[in-house]
This record gives sequence, C-alpha cells and structure tokens, in this order.
Amino acid sequence: MGYNLAMVADALRVRSALDNGEFVPFFQPVVDLRSGCIKGFEVLARWNDPVSGIIPPDLFIPAAERDGWISDLTMELLRTAFRAVDDLPSPVRLSVNLSAGQLCDPALPSQIAAVAGAAGFSLDRLSLELTESALVRDMESARAIAHDLKALGCKLSLDDFGTGFSSLLSLQALPFDILKVDRSFVSSMTVNKESRKIVAMVVGLGQSLGIATVAEGIETEEQDQMLLWLGCDYGQGWNYGRPVPASALLDSYFSVRPR
Ligand code: C2E
Ligand code: CA
Ligand code: CA
Ligand code: CA
Repeated sequence: MGYNLAMVADALRVRSALDNGEFVPFFQPVVDLRSGCIKGFEVLARWNDPVSGIIPPDLFIPAAERDGWISDLTMELLRTAFRAVDDLPSPVRLSVNLSAGQLCDPALPSQIAAVAGAAGFSLDRLSLELTESALVRDMESARAIAHDLKALGCKLSLDDFGTGFSSLLSLQALPFDILKVDRSFVSSMTVNKESRKIVAMVVGLGQSLGIATVAEGIETEEQDQMLLWLGCDYGQGWNYGRPVPASALLDSYFSVRPR
C-alpha cells in the first residue's frame, strides 16, 4: 500500500500538532481501595485539535509509533504533567504509558531523568506502564533498560494483565512492581463467575509475588466492594473519576466541597 496525498498531509498535520503543544495529558485518579484516598494519577494522552476538539489516543498513538515521534510525545506529556502536579497541595504519584519499542530505546532512561530533573519531580513518584507487546521485541535490551529505569527510582507496571498470550512470561521477564488487572475482567466480574475467579487469581498472584495490584475500569460500587473483598490494593475507573485536563485537576480532586 502506498501513501496518497491526503495521508501525507494528515501525517504532517499530526506532527506539527506536537510542535504546537496540542498534545496534552489528561489525569485519571488511582485510589487506594481500603481508604478510598487518591494515591496518584495515570497520565492519558489527548490531542487538543483546534479543528476537531479533543481526540482520543487510539487515533494518534499508532501514527506516533509508526512515524517515529512517540518518544517526543511521551517526553512532552511528562514535561506538562510534572508541571501540572507541581501546583497541587500534596505530592502525588504519576504513571505514564509506554509503547512497544520504547523500552528498547537506550536513550529512554536519560531522557526521563532529564525531564524529571528539570521539573524537580522525584522519580520514585513515577511508574511506567508497559504491555507485554512492549517486551517481546528485544528482551535483552528491554531488561537492561528496565534495570536502568529502576535504578533511577521508577516503578514498572504491567498493564492490561491477562489479555496477551504470554502474560506470565512477561511477569517473569522483568522486575515489575505493579500488576494492572485488565478492565475486561473487572467489567464482567460481578455477573460472571469465571471472570471473578480470574480476578481473584491475579490478585492472589500479585500477593504471592509481593506485587501491588491495580484494577482498571471500575465503574460501579459493587465492583469496588468485590475487589476490596478479594484483596486488590488499588482501583481506577469512572466510579472514582474520569480523566480530566490539568486545568480541572485541583477542582475535581483536591477541593474540599461544602456540604
Ligand atoms: P490503558 O492504558 O489501558 O488506559 C485505560 C483506558 O481506559 C483509558 O482510555 C481510560 O480513559 C479508560 N477508562 C478508565 N476508566 C474507565 C472506566 O471506568 N470505564 C471505561 N469504559 N473506560 C475507562 P484512553 O484514555 O482512551 O486510552 C486508551 C489507551 O491508549 C490506553 O489504554 C493506552 O494503552 C493508550 N495510551 C494513552 N495514552 C498514551 C500515551 O501517552 N502513550 C502510549 N504509548 N499509549 C497511550
Ligand atoms: Ca495504562
Ligand atoms: Ca490498561
Ligand atoms: Ca486497556
């Protein structure tokens, strides 16, 4: 398949959007299921396109990966995110998603260290979320880079756990600190016994390996209660809050509301 003119124009438009600062981080809270307190935020990329408005990541991450500007995008998101949380009343943790391939880029640790250093953000407050597809390419370099990142203080998180073909191999391959239970299991766990047992197994696996578990896509109080009962540590989902832009962070998640 060749490129046509429209596709080239589109690629240029997306690329210049990066230079224009149109890619912004949204922030979704991660809560401690036992206390209900916010533990940190996941950074989720959005394209704030002057023409179309807010565009979700599925529509531009593949282009960023294919056209080689995914790490520029990640660094831009981190720069903006570090600045946004600097203004908050208390220090928070952040997590950011990495694409397949980024963990094989030897420049990654020093780039992250430079961006964090410039913002005064301590890297023991940053987690890097990886899916197993991020690991399969070149395991030897991935392992070396993962160790460099951990030496900087970053935590490693295995995202979408249970959805790939080799989740357990991935878990064994790198020193993960956090296991994220995929939304597909969480959303069916209150109505489907198999899903419930899978979630219980993943939480138990995390406990026996000494790895924290985070359940994704919690939309109801019933799911929250079941996950708490199963011993899951943290949760994320619409039940606690949707992703919001930096400008709404303080009002949405840090204001004491009068009753
Ligand atoms: P993910 O890392 O699994 O992120 C969770 C997705 O679930 C987010 O979608 C989030 O908005 C959505 N979500 C959160 N809570 C709920 C809920 O209760 N119900 C439902 N139905 N959905 C919920 P989003 O923001 O559209 O991101 C989609 C995916 O795009 C992410 O999945 C991640 O894989 C990727 N992504 C986002 N930002 C970045 C980035 O900066 N870099 C890379 N490489 N990938 C990114
Ligand atoms: Ca994620
Ligand atoms: Ca996920
Ligand atoms: Ca997912």
